[in-house]
Amino acid sequence: MDCIFCKIISGELPCYKVYENESVFVFLDIGPVSPGHTLFVPRRHATNLNEGSAEEAVELMKAVYMLAPAIIKAVGASGYNLGMNHGLAAGQDVMHTHLHLMPRVDGVARTFVKTNPTQEELAEVAMKIRNLLLR
Ligand code: AMP
Ligand code: ZN
Repeated sequence: MDCIFCKIISGELPCYKVYENESVFVFLDIGPVSPGHTLFVPRRHATNLNEGSAEEAVELMKAVYMLAPAIIKAVGASGYNLGMNHGLAAGQDVMHTHLHLMPRVDGVARTFVKTNPTQEELAEVAMKIRNLLLR
């Protein structure tokens, strides 16, 4: 299947991985709207939340619950936005279910404009998150 997220999950394409378990794969968005912008993706391909199972939706949110504190701590944020673009009408570009976690720092404007960090910057953020998860 020609799905960029399936290729990331299978290891065919690289990513800045944060976490994985049997049902969820988590990695940094390469066009983050804020440092630490993370994508939560069900392992099993489905176009959107309702094409997958309710259990997978629950597992996705469990991963958010578990990882969000480490993600925002790693980038010095104190809050976050969650978002899902469900369907073309909503602006979904990648047709494999994914939930965006966008860390927010007090006093910093909340934009949804994509940025273009270096590979080193993305690698460092992913490493910081992974290190916090190990504690
Ligand atoms: P959406 O508009 O909700 O479908 O968002 C898709 C997201 O995937 C965008 O925020 C992209 O920056 C992100 N994205 C696309 N390709 C990659 C990739 N290879 N690695 C990480 N994130 C990606
Ligand atoms: Zn896929």
